[in-house]
Amino acid sequence: MSAGEDSWGTLFLVATPIGNLSDLSARAREALSSCDSIVCEDTRVTGKLLDHLSLRKPMVSYREENERKRTPELANDLQQGQALALVSDAGYPGISDPGFRLVRECRSRGIRVVPVPGPNAAITALAASGLPTHQFLFLGFLPKKSAGARKSLDHWREFEGSIVLYESRYRIEKTLALIEETLGPERFLCLARELTKLHESFLLGTVSEVRELSREGSSKGEFTLVIGPQGYVL
Ligand code: SAM
Repeated sequence: MSAGEDSWGTLFLVATPIGNLSDLSARAREALSSCDSIVCEDTRVTGKLLDHLSLRKPMVSYREENERKRTPELANDLQQGQALALVSDAGYPGISDPGFRLVRECRSRGIRVVPVPGPNAAITALAASGLPTHQFLFLGFLPKKSAGARKSLDHWREFEGSIVLYESRYRIEKTLALIEETLGPERFLCLARELTKLHESFLLGTVSEVRELSREGSSKGEFTLVIGPQGYVL
């Protein structure tokens, strides 16, 4: 790893709101307004955030489909002296979103990386769930195929802390059913929906209770699941 040069630019990792725009930090606003370009997943989504901030900046798309090709190009731009702000559509870049490859490339070339922390759905759900926070495991999205998802849940069945999962609205019912099947109907969990948004809600109970409650409620929106350790009840 090289030490880096003074003339090189900096990569800012900028967390953006997961719903409530007031959660954008003053440092995030500063990084977005002072950088040369914003590296983002979806230019339309980030464009709306920039409109809200009355900012105009060049945007470079960086998403799953092009991140391998773009990573060395962006690292070259940084070495040419550009200051880049990496954002994702929501929350912390690199957390179940593109970012890791670019940060790794920067670290290996000795390019400065500055985190600008802020909202993240996993930590927000965990902290508000009432489930143990002293030790937790973040699994991101479970594998799409049931066999892979089952294997992962089975592997972590006896983990002694909380388990945090992301899930899309399209798969949430299937995933809850799989949790019930794999970890048993009595496993306690919290289904956090639409965090920081108008219809924020937390369903708490055993997985069979939460499945019942979620059938009665809306299945629209974004969901984060926090699963308690074996034998845990509130
Ligand atoms: N990078 C983001 C972060 O730091 O939280 C996560 C991005 S991941 C592609 C998107 C997933 O995060 C959603 O499918 C959902 O599981 C979770 N998520 C994002 N926003 C949320 C919200 N407002 N409420 C609940 N879960 C949310």
